[in-house]
Amino acid sequence: MKKLITCLLMAGAISVCATDFYGVKLVVGADDDLSGMIQNLLDGDRASAKAHLEHLSVIAPKLAKGLSLLDFEIPCIDCAAKRSADCKLCGGKLLWINPAALRYLQETFKAALGNGEPVEKAWVFAKRMFDERKALVLSRKPFKGTVFRVETDGILLKGDDGKIVFLAEENPSGLKRGQSAEGHCWLIKELSHSYREGETFKSVPFYVRNLWWDY
Ligand SMILES: [Zn+2]
Repeated sequence: MKKLITCLLMAGAISVCATDFYGVKLVVGADDDLSGMIQNLLDGDRASAKAHLEHLSVIAPKLAKGLSLLDFEIPCIDCAAKRSADCKLCGGKLLWINPAALRYLQETFKAALGNGEPVEKAWVFAKRMFDERKALVLSRKPFKGTVFRVETDGILLKGDDGKIVFLAEENPSGLKRGQSAEGHCWLIKELSHSYREGETFKSVPFYVRNLWWDY
């Protein structure tokens, strides 16, 4: 990190800079800073994450503009109803670093870069996907019902109120019709799920059990 800071001081207005790392010349670009910053946050190393962000503001000011390390923390669902100073997730701060959320951002960014997207576009896309999910965190609801039908990408769940909804699942194949199911889920308003019953198609609300994967 010391090398990176030295590099930052010397970089001035040039777009990328080379740093010497165990004798190997590396080019630190915006993608390295963004990936490095996320990894640092995952490792609990805020000082290094901050240095990456500062470096980014030199080499890619447009990307760094308005970006803060706090943007990567998500609301604490456990404290949503009642704030607790003893909360294991946030310690009463109401925001916390969720590793699953950061890994989702990291993977989405990496995948977009892997698809040949330029850094700026890849980052804007990945950050938008992250922010959309982050905005949903506190809308989590409990569910309870029975499996009405197992589909390839989730289950149709019949709630105790008789209403059927779709619940996206990563591995629905282990579930069986008639089995009881309960837990927490999030409604994705933009999506719906259609299934066939006899001669008719029915459209039902779309819920997910895990916000941090692509449904
Ligand atoms: Zn909390």
